[in-house]
Amino acid sequence: MTVIYKNATLITGATDQAIPDAVLVVDNETILYAGPSKDWQDRNEHEVVDLDGHWIIPGLIDCHIHMDLYGFGDTFQENLVEDKLRTLRSAKLMSDTLCAGFTTIRNVGTVNHIDFAVKAGIEAGYFKGPRICTSGKIISMTCSGTEYFDGMYRVADGVDDCRKAAREQLKEGADCLKLMATGAVMNPGGVPGAAQLNEDEIRAVVEEGLKLGKHTAAHAHGADGIINAVNAGVRTIEHGTMADERAIESMAAAGTYLVPTMSLHDLFMAHIDTVPEFMIEKSSRMQDDYIDIVKQAVKAGVPIAMGTDAGTNYNYHGNNAAEIVYLVEKEILSPMTAIQASTRVAAEAIQMADRVGTLEPGKLADFIVLDRDPVENIRTLAEPKHIHQVFKGGAPVL
Ligand SMILES: [Zn+2]
Repeated sequence: MTVIYKNATLITGATDQAIPDAVLVVDNETILYAGPSKDWQDRNEHEVVDLDGHWIIPGLIDCHIHMDLYGFGDTFQENLVEDKLRTLRSAKLMSDTLCAGFTTIRNVGTVNHIDFAVKAGIEAGYFKGPRICTSGKIISMTCSGTEYFDGMYRVADGVDDCRKAAREQLKEGADCLKLMATGAVMNPGGVPGAAQLNEDEIRAVVEEGLKLGKHTAAHAHGADGIINAVNAGVRTIEHGTMADERAIESMAAAGTYLVPTMSLHDLFMAHIDTVPEFMIEKSSRMQDDYIDIVKQAVKAGVPIAMGTDAGTNYNYHGNNAAEIVYLVEKEILSPMTAIQASTRVAAEAIQMADRVGTLEPGKLADFIVLDRDPVENIRTLAEPKHIHQVFKGGAPVL
């Protein structure tokens, strides 16, 4: 069935300009045409939906979530939730995420391969959820703190073990791989500035992914770890909180995507009574410089893809657009660039640009209808009352 959505203002994600008086033509799950109404030639009778006074944008993409974390004040409490309940909870959270307009997510670390079950459940049509690119367990060297998220890490040391760890995730169905190139904020023993897996260990993981055409994401705060990861060929640097000039240059030169996760710091600070002190302390130490660092990365030409770290403390699934608002309100990205970071650039970063990320002929019809201009007011994306409808593969989800 062909449906014509007409009279809306269209933001395709592919260009910087919104198209007024546009037409979006969807044939089953695929886009046939997206552009000015005057250029749409086919005049056959189809189902027509008048969206006068509305805006259409591509379905949003979050490049960094943890579907099985619930946003507890102290994430250590997650260890008390057993896996079956956690799996059901993840299914509910993915439905919330889709209804918030996020039609694609990349999941970068979940305990005990819950992510593969949830993804399979969505694809089988058992429940609603976004398209999912998922990594399985996070590959980490032996270090203090991994026990804080019991079951989330595959501890590996040395090139051969890292290779095996990558193969294990791929065997289970990983779409991408995730590894720790530096210590973390989110566990008590982690030293964010300290490099972890060596360049040759990271390269072994990257190579195993590439054999199957799959990319690797590296958790990296400190500059040394970022540079190790970039040199080893990872596709995305997660966080990048302590990047220095060298690290930014290396990302820019290699075309490595940066996925900053910035707004969660404000959530920590709004809940200092319940968020563990070590997280507040580490995050506070880094946050002041973080905004400048990401601005420098933008200036240097590092492609920015949006990620939230959803699931971490008070960082609820379904509130993902708060990060887009943060990027705009801190003047890191313009509203249009922030939308692109959450659509086209995000799709490129997670290797899904052939299917999603822009509204162009041949792509899947994942889009959101808004009742207010998101470029004029970026908070439109974060306020459910302005989300008129969400479509995944041409089908309404609300
Ligand atoms: Zn994360």
